Amino acid sequence: SSGMEENDVVVIGGGPGGYVAAIKAAQLGLKTTCIEKRGTLGGTCLNVGCIPSKALLHSSHMYHEAKHSFPSHGVKFSSVEVDLPSMMTQKDKAVANLTRGIEGLFKKNKVNYVKGYGRFISPSEVSVDTLEGGSSVVKGKHVIIATGSDVKPLPGVPIDEERIVSSTGALSLPEVPKKLVVIGAGYIGLEMGSVWGRLGSEVIVVEFAPDIVPTMDGEVRKQFQRSLEKQGMKFKLKTKVVGVDTSGNVIKLTLEPSAGGDQSILEADVVLVSTGRNPFTAGLGLEKIGVEMDKAGRVLVDKRFATNVSGVYAIGDVIPGPMLAHKAEEDGVACVEFIAGKEGHVDYDMVPGVVYTHPEVAYVGKTEEQVKTLGSDYRVGKFPFLANSRAKAIDDAEGIVKILAEKESDKILGVHIMAPNAGELIHEAVLAMQYGASSEDIARTCHAHPTLSEALKEAAMATYDKPIHI
Ligand code: FAD
Repeated sequence: SSGMEENDVVVIGGGPGGYVAAIKAAQLGLKTTCIEKRGTLGGTCLNVGCIPSKALLHSSHMYHEAKHSFPSHGVKFSSVEVDLPSMMTQKDKAVANLTRGIEGLFKKNKVNYVKGYGRFISPSEVSVDTLEGGSSVVKGKHVIIATGSDVKPLPGVPIDEERIVSSTGALSLPEVPKKLVVIGAGYIGLEMGSVWGRLGSEVIVVEFAPDIVPTMDGEVRKQFQRSLEKQGMKFKLKTKVVGVDTSGNVIKLTLEPSAGGDQSILEADVVLVSTGRNPFTAGLGLEKIGVEMDKAGRVLVDKRFATNVSGVYAIGDVIPGPMLAHKAEEDGVACVEFIAGKEGHVDYDMVPGVVYTHPEVAYVGKTEEQVKTLGSDYRVGKFPFLANSRAKAIDDAEGIVKILAEKESDKILGVHIMAPNAGELIHEAVLAMQYGASSEDIARTCHAHPTLSEALKEAAMATYDKPIHI
């Protein structure tokens, strides 16, 4: 690689933030180098996050369907079994194909790719310990920190990635654990808990807070939790893990009520620690060049993604905001547009969140709890998938659409969907909100029949008038 000549843009980190920023920069005609230490592109998301988890969620869902739903659809087998190594191979293939695909996109767009660990020696010079051995210096007029995040350790519960695993270990368990304890009821814990639960594990989720997935609308969350419980997942809320004993064949976790009180022991074969992620800036030399961070170690930036050090920018999981791949990508594009002298824009109120369980839960905008705090009158329109013809036709009718709209203007404030395909359905709502649509705008838009999307139309009708089908 030829990093010695000066680049317009140097990106440190090849995750969804960094690789998208690099490609966009090159498309805007800027000479661009991307430095990545992992050996493959795609960051957390493609290697040990979004993609492998969705692969396993799909495979385990197919098994679960074959076992529990196919017979009632008149599809019979003599037996269904899990072949875990093949399931893992399919996941690994998906990851390998996609990460190699990004290398192809780098070539196509003429992004220079340097494999190695980057470290600032000045605001415009990054030294790289290359994976091949040796080191080089990459220079850039603008340097973007896109180093992402890493697993947050839980004090007293040391991760060994064998019996006590992070999400990374949970994506590659060699066998289905008899009893899996998940610490942390965020989306990662619930997704991985669903995978192993479907494959046969008894899954117990321990959560410090009184609720699962804190960003979810309360009413939808209640239905969602009931659905997971029906699938066999057990919850111990308002409970903290204060210690672990790994000396025996089974792991013994010591639990205590969050507010304090009597301790109890919970046994597990495998423990998943999914209590959050930390921004990752280790060994980057940020102190050396004086980049400002907050107490949580996140890099502080202004609206143009600029840090306090001239010429140095930051995007994605390493800055404040939702730690999501699509948010990192939006950051990346906008940051590079600013660098190129254009206007970039990310609307953080319109970043959808999705939990890829079954049913999925997806949402955008405000929860009802948040709307209440606004103080102005609002209306709620709801429609259950039990009354949606397509959901009934495919016998997958658990879920609801809930729309919150301002009473005065009918402007949509938030949309919450629990449904088999909620992660796809939500984008109609995101687009509507992005264009400042009213609920009536959705209701008066023709929706194809029979589709799950009709539930959104009906919920929109219910917001200002009456739905037809319930
Ligand atoms: P990262 O993806 O973390 O990439 C940063 C990259 O920088 C890494 O590859 C790292 O090796 C590299 N790097 C760091 N320091 C250096 C250095 N000094 N020199 C060179 N390279 C360096 N988000 C979603 O939106 N949808 C999902 O379904 C989803 N599922 C997830 C499931 C799991 C199990 C996990 C863990 C996360 C999931 N996420 C999901 C979150 C998503 O992965 C992150 O939000 C996203 O990857 C952030 O992108 P990023 O580019 O900021 O950072």
